[in-house]
Amino acid sequence: MPTPARLSRVKEVLSRRQPDLTVLLENVSKPHNFSAILRSADAVGVFEAHAVHPTGGVPTHHHTAAGTERWVYLRVHPDVETAIQHLKDRGFSVYATRLSREAVDFREVDYTRPVAILLGSEKWGVSEEAARLADGSLVIPMLGMAQSLNVSVAAAVILFEAQRQRLAAGMYDRPRLDPETYQRVLFEWLYPELARELRAKGEPYPELDEEGRPKWTST
Ligand code: SAM
Repeated sequence: MPTPARLSRVKEVLSRRQPDLTVLLENVSKPHNFSAILRSADAVGVFEAHAVHPTGGVPTHHHTAAGTERWVYLRVHPDVETAIQHLKDRGFSVYATRLSREAVDFREVDYTRPVAILLGSEKWGVSEEAARLADGSLVIPMLGMAQSLNVSVAAAVILFEAQRQRLAAGMYDRPRLDPETYQRVLFEWLYPELARELRAKGEPYPELDEEGRPKWTST
């Protein structure tokens, strides 16, 4: 059973999760970059992140993310077209981050709307295909000698601008997840192993009482 402090911390964080703000990582291949992006995503309240990777898996690096993989759901898509379509079907505008002339300054975007930030690979950037499918392109102006930022730095800069806008709009002041998702995720965060076992057996999660204890009903 969680301690009262643990329960209240988990509830607090969950009530600040933003289901309509996300990142899509296209072939970000270095584990420390991948994990650092998830860590920033956690800090701004991203509920679920998205990725495509040639290996079909994800290159996370537990140390850099400080275990945040557990708090940010990650959905891996087979290819970038499927990923972008999935996001668009769910009402997201997808913005590619690119060092191109058509890209707008990242501060000009309204991040209080459903937004997915598409980040590209360390070497090649966002693919032409993904950029074509996206709703627009963003750039962080570079005024020095370096042409680009590290991908995890670029992600953090944009995500924290989104956080700034959402704080100003009061979007962290009340739970944004629907009650059913909130309850499901609360159970998964408090009891990850039990949740895994129940899912494997195809059984529903029990309700939780005020103190975060499962209310088992006998059948
Ligand atoms: N040669 C690559 C290119 O031309 O896109 C550089 C890739 S950069 C190291 C890796 C990723 O970081 C990019 O795909 C983009 O997602 C993000 N990024 C880096 N600097 C950026 C900037 N100034 N504006 C927007 N995105 C940036």
